[in-house]
Amino acid sequence: MAQFQHDLATAKRLDHEDELKDVRDQFFIPSRFEITENSEISEANEPSIYLCGNSLGLQSKGTRRLIEEELDVWSKAGVYGHFRHPKSRDWVSIDETVTQKMADVVGAQRSEVAVMTTLTTNLHLLLSSFYKPTKEKHMIILEAKAFPSDHYAVESQIQLHGFDPTESMVTIEPPTDQYFLPTEYILKIISTHASTAALILLPGVQYYTGQAFDIKKITSYAKSLGVTIGWDLAHAAGNVLLELHDWEVDFAVWCTYKYLNSGPGGIGGLFVHEKNFGQPRLTGWWAHEKATRFDMTNRFVSQPGAAGFQLSNPSVLDTVSLLGSLDIFAKYGMPALRKKSVALTGYLESLLLAQFPDKPFRIITPADPAQRGAQLSLLFKPGLMVKVHKDLEKHAITVDDRKPDVIRVAPTPLYNTFEDVWKFVSELRRSVDAVIAEEYGKSV
Ligand SMILES: *Cc1c(COP(=O)(O)O)cnc(C)c1O
Repeated sequence: MAQFQHDLATAKRLDHEDELKDVRDQFFIPSRFEITENSEISEANEPSIYLCGNSLGLQSKGTRRLIEEELDVWSKAGVYGHFRHPKSRDWVSIDETVTQKMADVVGAQRSEVAVMTTLTTNLHLLLSSFYKPTKEKHMIILEAKAFPSDHYAVESQIQLHGFDPTESMVTIEPPTDQYFLPTEYILKIISTHASTAALILLPGVQYYTGQAFDIKKITSYAKSLGVTIGWDLAHAAGNVLLELHDWEVDFAVWCTYKYLNSGPGGIGGLFVHEKNFGQPRLTGWWAHEKATRFDMTNRFVSQPGAAGFQLSNPSVLDTVSLLGSLDIFAKYGMPALRKKSVALTGYLESLLLAQFPDKPFRIITPADPAQRGAQLSLLFKPGLMVKVHKDLEKHAITVDDRKPDVIRVAPTPLYNTFEDVWKFVSELRRSVDAVIAEEYGKSV
């Protein structure tokens, strides 16, 4: 990989040369005072270092404007906002403002995407369509370290169908001494269980290790063995390049409050491949064809495509909150954002390797840029992580911790700079030295 110089001037030069440097101005970056609530902190009004867009993306200025506009329309037009909206965003069709832009982010046809409810709800809805266990084929394959919500969703679906999770869940453990799951290893497990597996659920990017899975290869292999495959893209949507349609993914779900910046608890997204539009599903009035939805005949006629998987009228505030961010994705496009992301994360990696020859942590995220997104996960030696994380927080550095020993660092291409990354690494060095000195002081 390219050699980086390790001084601040180099970071500033990389920012200066960055074609996306102006995108940051479209976001609110919390100040050092705002993020710490410490009025004594030095440089209180300077922007803090926020490397946590993998957990909760920052607020875009567009989002704030759009929500204020909708509140305004609601206060002045009441119910008429549904049908004659002064900004041409009739609430009755509010989903149409985001569907195409969302589809572009995940590499889908517009008809294959619906923006609705939340991730776990959408996962249950699609499992109710795609998980059809029989006596012979009843197993669901997922990773052993799946995100808890995914694990619980799968477990409860199995129980709901009258099966026993201890017999019907295959959980993929990493090979000994490894943190991530090599593609060939996953394929081997799929092939071992293909005759009894009804479904596979895997993450596009693993939340803990930051590993990006080879969705194309794994999907094609699963399907060649006749196993349905769905993907949880919580950490992949808006982070890595996706081609869900071309890869013939059966279905996928994701949330939009991580890399897609829709705000806490924001609306979710789902993908159903056009080959699966006929799949049976739970339904509600919002799945009914638009032209006759309000005729109230109780004779169901489905909307075509993924729109036919909707249930309820979507939250307008949640939808436009997402729109504010998707407008930015639409303007710059995923390929440009991903290109910057690879550079930023590579820069972070090179600084960490150079500044920590003493190895107080190891990076458990794959070193190959094709096998990771924006995030690097640092696994600390026992006893260090909690203290280091606390200290960073105090110094207005936002990264997140995953117990027992991991700190996740995620520079996002929309609003993070090379200077952010440089400052983070220098603060981490200071913090680790301080924590080790304190520990050493105690032990002598
Ligand atoms: C963030 C995340 C979730 C959260 O689910 P919600 O339904 O949005 O609360 C679920 N699964 C994964 C893999 C996640 O990363």
